[in-house]
Amino acid sequence: MDIYSKYKLKSIRFMGRETTLLNPIIAKREIDTFNSKMSGKPNTNHFKDWPLCEECGVPMNFILQLYKKDFPNFHFPDNKNLFQIFSCRNFDCPHYDTGYYSGLKLHYYFFHEEFGEKKEILQPEIDTNANLQNPFPELFFLPRKQFETSGFIPDFIFEDILEQTNREEREEKIMEFLPKIQTKIFGYEHFLHNVDESVNIDEISNSEPKQFVLQIVSHEMYKHKHHIGDLSQWVPYSNLPLYNTYIYQEINNRYNFHSYIEYS
Ligand SMILES: [Zn+2]
Repeated sequence: MDIYSKYKLKSIRFMGRETTLLNPIIAKREIDTFNSKMSGKPNTNHFKDWPLCEECGVPMNFILQLYKKDFPNFHFPDNKNLFQIFSCRNFDCPHYDTGYYSGLKLHYYFFHEEFGEKKEILQPEIDTNANLQNPFPELFFLPRKQFETSGFIPDFIFEDILEQTNREEREEKIMEFLPKIQTKIFGYEHFLHNVDESVNIDEISNSEPKQFVLQIVSHEMYKHKHHIGDLSQWVPYSNLPLYNTYIYQEINNRYNFHSYIEYS
């Protein structure tokens, strides 16, 4: 058994969690609205009109949609099989920049999709005079399951790492235990490992029991053949070093969003 499998087995047994890295890749042609994806055209079958920000009334940007058929392990309440996130795109929105939950207002939706006929796909109306965030390129997912821990490495595993790795390998092996800084489903949220001191983690983690379900990372590296870019200008917008969004499911099945500035 190689060293990696040995760690993996031990970490699963003790404190590992499975995470699904979404691994976004630029789409060469338009992705059908019945697929999980980021940006591009969403499934708008369940909207009468394109969704507007409830704070400022501006048409939102489509961020992401996940279907149960593609991600059966993701939590879909009741009979729902489609999860969507939209974000306000207005930098003059009254919600923008209000403390550590700052950033553009995010909205989520759950729907039940029958995969029958598509209604006409709605398009947002754009006011070109407004100070708006641009949509980002359409991305499909190449999901990859991995194991990770909250960053805690038990002594006996750490001893194995010291024994069985040289200096170059060591850092890489240790990184495998830490929460991944990528857009992902489940696992451990990255802020547990590295967070701006102004964030009151206790307020978030001790208020109500909630399960971490989704992390959207501003510095996600998307792949496009030989080109690797990042989403930092878009998801969610910030010119700050690292700006992540975490989505939690509360016990009553409500979801809530937290965005934090992180300094890496
Ligand atoms: Zn708004």
